[in-house]
Amino acid sequence: MRALYCFDLGTPVDRIERVVGEAGLDAVILGSDLADHDRLRDGLAGSSVDVVINVPVFFDPVFLPDNAACYAVTSRGRRAVEGWLHFACPSSESYWRYRTDRVRRQLERLAPIDPVMITFDFARTFVFWETVRPGTDPAAVVHGCYCATCRQRFHEASDHHVPDEVPVPGPAATCAASSASCSVPDPDSAVRRRSGVGGERLRSPGGSPS
Ligand SMILES: [Zn+2]
Repeated sequence: MRALYCFDLGTPVDRIERVVGEAGLDAVILGSDLADHDRLRDGLAGSSVDVVINVPVFFDPVFLPDNAACYAVTSRGRRAVEGWLHFACPSSESYWRYRTDRVRRQLERLAPIDPVMITFDFARTFVFWETVRPGTDPAAVVHGCYCATCRQRFHEASDHHVPDEVPVPGPAATCAASSASCSVPDPDSAVRRRSGVGGERLRSPGGSPS
């Protein structure tokens, strides 16, 4: 299959059809947020263009700012936020419940499109790879998750302890907690305060899917 990724959910259906056809492609890839864009969703349901739905797994810039305990914790002991990239802890039961329920409801709304494929994006641990230059020392790459739960699970699975020099987040950062409180510094908080952005939708990733 050859397909193009359409990041702009405001794109008219006829333009997608024209570009896909002129480029000799087979399908268009759209994020699962398409479920919330009635015009494009309904238009594609009546189109001959095949649709691939891309589902982000641990990336969520809407839910996480209001549920800080579900953020991943980086190897520097900070919330896993870099610009548009808001990343969840893979051990967070709260996040898994929210995410699976949201994806289920999205896919139900997208059923009339009859997608030819569903792909999973951001199905990995945190790293903002767009800023990692070739040749970078792997030890210098900020990654995660280092929350208390993930550290404990890593120890149990591998019998290896995380080195002592890695910052240990406070107990409020334990991702299994349901509380929205979090003691881990939020590097984006100042930006959100300046811009007035809180829990509302932030700009979609401008880069390539990960
Ligand atoms: Zn974690």
